[in-house]
Order: sequence, then structure tokens, then C-alpha cells
Amino acid sequence: IQDEVMKGDNYDGEPYGDSPDESVAKSAFEKLQADRKTLPVYPYREKLLEAVNEHQVLVIVGETGSGKTTQIPQYLHEAGYTKRGKIGCTQPRRVAAMSVSARVSQEMGVKLGHEVGYSIRFEDCTSEKTVIKYMTDGMLLREFLGEPDLSSYSVVMVDEAHERTLSTDILFGLVKDIARFRPDLKLLISSATLDAEKFSDYFDSAPIFIVPGRRFPVEINYTKAPEADYLDAAIVTALQIHVTQPPGDGDILVFLTGQEEIETAEEILKHRTRGLGTKIAELIICPIYANLPTELQAKIFERTPEGARKVVLATNIAETSLTIDGIKYVIDPGFVKMKSYSPRTGMESLLITPISKASANQRAGRSGRTGPGKCFRLYTSHNYYNDLEDNTVPEIQRTNLANVVLSLKSLGIHDLVNFDFMDPPPEASLLKALELLFALSALNKKGELTKVGRKMAEFPLDPMLSKMIVASDKYKCSDEIISIAAMLSIGSSIFYRPKDKQVHADNARMNFHMGNVGDHIALLKVYSSWKETNFSTQWCYENYIQVRSMKRARDIRDQLEGLLERVEIEMMSNPGDLEAIRKAITSGYFPHCSRLQKNGSYRTVKHPQTVHIHPSSGLAQVLPRWVVYHELVLTTKEYMRQVSELKPEWLIEIAPHFYQLKDVEDTGSKKMPRGEGLASDIQR
Ligand code: ADP
Ligand code: MG
Repeated sequence: IQDEVMKGDNYDGEPYGDSPDESVAKSAFEKLQADRKTLPVYPYREKLLEAVNEHQVLVIVGETGSGKTTQIPQYLHEAGYTKRGKIGCTQPRRVAAMSVSARVSQEMGVKLGHEVGYSIRFEDCTSEKTVIKYMTDGMLLREFLGEPDLSSYSVVMVDEAHERTLSTDILFGLVKDIARFRPDLKLLISSATLDAEKFSDYFDSAPIFIVPGRRFPVEINYTKAPEADYLDAAIVTALQIHVTQPPGDGDILVFLTGQEEIETAEEILKHRTRGLGTKIAELIICPIYANLPTELQAKIFERTPEGARKVVLATNIAETSLTIDGIKYVIDPGFVKMKSYSPRTGMESLLITPISKASANQRAGRSGRTGPGKCFRLYTSHNYYNDLEDNTVPEIQRTNLANVVLSLKSLGIHDLVNFDFMDPPPEASLLKALELLFALSALNKKGELTKVGRKMAEFPLDPMLSKMIVASDKYKCSDEIISIAAMLSIGSSIFYRPKDKQVHADNARMNFHMGNVGDHIALLKVYSSWKETNFSTQWCYENYIQVRSMKRARDIRDQLEGLLERVEIEMMSNPGDLEAIRKAITSGYFPHCSRLQKNGSYRTVKHPQTVHIHPSSGLAQVLPRWVVYHELVLTTKEYMRQVSELKPEWLIEIAPHFYQLKDVEDTGSKKMPRGEGLASDIQR
């Protein structure tokens, strides 16, 4: 392979950068064109095009910010590849797909959604005209379902391959397969890290094209002792830098684990800088995380005004997916929110986990792009050398595979054990996924896709959620169920709670929980009430509800409605029959069922584990005997979030293959808890 490694060292094409007449003011467009030519990848443009022309599969390695994502698709477009089909470029993160496509459409001087577009779950911003399409890796995976040979594409670039997300790993297997019978398809695998040999090996010794980056030295600082509160330490460090260093010398990037943490940090920073008044330079705070509204995403790229400093509060998205120019200081608390999965219990949880050494080094590198940088690691050097793993474990080895298995099955790939995985998932996880899909009636005993499974696969949702929708047909409440499904899929919070109006906000929220209907029905009530007001923004304000989240729910719901039609499920409304709605929910979520214990905690029925109702739930004080929950989140305890009550006999009725009588009997009694009303009925 080494012989095949190509470097553009002897590049003798156009000069590096350009030398415009400084006195002539350039238009913004010209400025963008000039900027494009200063990127590290630019001198290798011709060599790269030659290599793509010569080889079907090419692995491209280049440091973050060198221009792989924004430039390479444009080069290929300029070279005529889009005459034969689209260029698709996958991103592990939706924000990256949106932001990068916005940038590229500017650079090309076209409207976003026309020649350049993006496609992420529930949001398709492309058109007939689109020739460069950025999309999440999950969306390309879904496109295989409709177009198994990806015939509308001439180039597929699997970008950020080093992230090794579940979808990217599955894509590897699928694109490798279609490349065999589509010699005209060009495949680019691009990665920010140097261990590209693994990708090359996997793709039958594909050549590696290296884009040498520019990197300035980064000074690494460790703390002397471990920090008890990394969030506070991060804030203090950011403020210290801001107060002691001249504002013009560079911006700060802080890595945090998620939206909530970022919002907290933003609030504290605002409060503390306000306290310092005019004694310090202006500090512009820019949050960036997956669910940040589109309008605010562009803010992180805005040039910092003279005399001010920017502090970017980012999730892992800023590690390699997005490059923000002008960063000189990186603050790295050393944590990331990561999925973990137990194939034994089938339970998935989001955990705040220490990062890997590879991650730590990527993070540090973000400070040395435009000049020498400084990285403040909020952990000790002993921690770094002795406690951090070398690399992050690929997602495929720490996640629930039910979704992917369902997709592969509907692509006609039956022999999963022999699928060409770059790193195979644990066999136990595969088995667990098959088991769950069987329990949901998506697969039959032979592991073949059933009619129900085929319908479920049409929905871009977790199998339990799609099963709930498919089951709503039987209970004649598809109208209500897709509202609930949409509300569960928003991904950001629905209610807000301003500090000075907490009581009002809580009262407004509890209104939807009246009668202890459970969280799913409360979500439905929120949606239907909003709809009744003709989607009024005022109504949202009055009820302390996030308008933006509601609009997103409406978009998602519209799409689910379209998909219902596709799988021939009639839209039926049955708003008065809460039992029917709860049964439809239980049809998808029966594996997530738990029972009240004497001490007020709950015990999951299969694979017993102690769990609690999340304090934000409308049932947190009610404590029904049996509940079905949407998901588990581990914070201080293992919490069930979005909880509804169920009758244990439903489990036998709905999932007789999963639950036996003994599972739902009350301890010490042989009888079914028959005739026992829902606690909520009693309370009413
Ligand atoms: P790579 O994929 O190699 O990490 P990119 O192509 O993403 O590099 O980035 C190249 C340059 O484009 C960077 O300097 C980055 O700051 C700039 N850039 C990318 N996206 C945007 C955006 N949305 N707004 C402004 N600049 C951007
Ligand atoms: Mg990139």
C-alpha cells in the first residue's frame, strides 16, 4: 500500500493563494473564491482529480479544516462528474450536513436546495436540480431502500469515516458491494486521522491520498489535580483566558457534552461577564449542538468583531465535523456523551464518558490551525496517559442494532453474521436485535421480514416507535399515534421554564397532565390543543411551550402522515378512547415495561433492573403499579422518561410470545391482577 500512497508534493499547478490588487474592493463572492484557494487541499486539486479518475475507490486523509468536505465535491463537480449523476457526501451529524451545504452553496453562488442541498431525517432540502448533496450517513442508508444500486449517484463520498458511526460502518459494507457491479461509481472514503490503512485494507487495498495539513504547535496544559466540577472549571478557565489575554489574539472553543450543559454554561458565562461590566472586552457566546435552530447555527462562523472575543460552546461536533476559524484556545474537560448498550438486557443509555486519546488530540489540534494554540485539558496528565483509551470504540460495538438489522433485512440481506463488517458487532447484540424484531413481529421465526416488518421499515424511526404506528391501525387511532410519535421524535424540549416564572410554567405544564393521563397522552394533548388554536404562536407563549419544537413536531407529523398512506394505514381518529391509544403504545413498547416496588422504585419486568420515573414526568408523584416507558436516561439514577400507565393483562393480550402469566402476576399471588382499575381512574 505504501507504494500507492500518493502525495501532491511535486505539485506545479496554479500558485498557492492569489495576489489580487489590494486596492480593489472585492465582492463577497470573489472573496469566497479567493478563500477557497488558500485551503490546504487546493494545491492538490489536479492530483486528486487524476487519482479519482484512475481509481474507483480512494481513501483520502487530511487534517480537519483542510477543505475535504467543502472542496472535494466542488472539484468533482467542476470536473464534470455531475453530468453522470449526483455527488453524495455523507456526514455523521445533521448540523454538519446543514452547515457545510450552506457554505458550499455560497461558494458556488447558488441558492441552498438548488444545485447544492442537504438531506437529514425529516428534512429534505434538495430539488431536481441538486447535484451536490450533503446528507447524514443515516439518510444515505435509507436511500438504499428506494434505490439499491444508488444509480442516481456518480460519486459517493463517505466523509468523516474516522467517526465510525453505526450508519457509516453499515454504509461501508453496502457501498463496497455496489462498487463491484457499478464500475462507473466513484467511491471516496475520507478521514481526518492518519490510521487510514484500515480503510484501505477494507476496500481491497484502495490507494490512500494524503492532503498534508498545516499545523502549528499547540501547548498542552493539564490540571494538577482532577476537577470535581468540570463545567465550572471550564467556565472559570474561559473567563481567565478572556480577562488575561488581549481580545484580538484569538477565540476560545470549549467542548461540552450536550445541549443542557451548553445552555447552563451560556447562562453562567452571561451572568459572570455582566458582573464584570465594562472592565472587560466583549465576550460573544456561541453555542453549537445538534438541535440548535438553523438561524443560530451560522453565528459561530461569523467573524469576531474587533476588540471582542468569541467563545464557542460546542459538543463533539466541533471536534472534526465543523471547523471554526480563529480558535486559539481549546478547553477540553475530557468528556463526551456516548451511547452505551447492554446486549444482555437490551438496554441503551446515554452516558457521560471520558474521551479517548485520539479525541483529546483532535480537540487540542483545533487550536493550532491558524497559528500556535493552547489547549487546557481539565484533567491530569496521569489521567491522560493511564486512564484514557487510545481510540473510541466504534458505535457498532456499543449500540442497539435493531434499526440497522431491520434495514438490512429489508434490503434483502439475510445473512447478517457474514455481512462484510469492518469491525463486527458483538454476536450478542445481533441476536438481541433479531430477538426484539421477532418480538415486535417484524421478523418471523426463520428471521424473514414479515408484512408488519416491511411496513415498519418504511418509517425512519426506531423499530419500537414504528411498531407503535403500525399497531395503531388495529386500534383505530393512527391520527393520535402519529402525533405522539412526532412529539417523541422532536429531540429537543417542548416546555420551557423561565427562572422568574417557574410556578406559572409548571402549572401550565401540569394542565396537560390533568387526570394523570400519562406523558404520552399529555404530549398528544399539547399537540391537539395547539392544532385547535390553528397553530398559534401566542398560545405557545401562554403555555410555556417552545414554538420551534412544536413546528418541528408538525413537520415530522406531516411526513409520518405521508408514510401512513404509503404503507396503506388509514388515518383514523379515536381521541376519546385513551385505552386504545395506550394499547397501541404498548404494542410497540411492551419490552419497556416495569412494575412498582414497595419502596417507590420500579423494576423492569424482563431482565430486572431498578429504575425510577423521571421527575419531569406527570406520573412522578402518582406512581402507577405498571408503566410502559419510552426510554431510559442515566443521570444520578436510571430514569424512565415519557411514561404511561398500562394494565398488566395487556401484556399477555398484546405480546403473549414475550410475556408469560408469571411475569405479570403480583408477587405472592397466583391470580392475575384482574378488575383492578388504573390508578388514574381511582384518583379521578
Ligand atoms: P475538512 O472537511 O477538511 O475538515 P472543511 O471543508 O469542512 O474541511 O472546511 C474548510 C474551510 O471551510 C474551513 O476553514 C472552515 O472554516 C470553512 N467552512 C466550512 N463550513 C463553513 C461555514 N458553514 N461557514 C463558514 N466557513 C465554513
Ligand atoms: Mg470535513
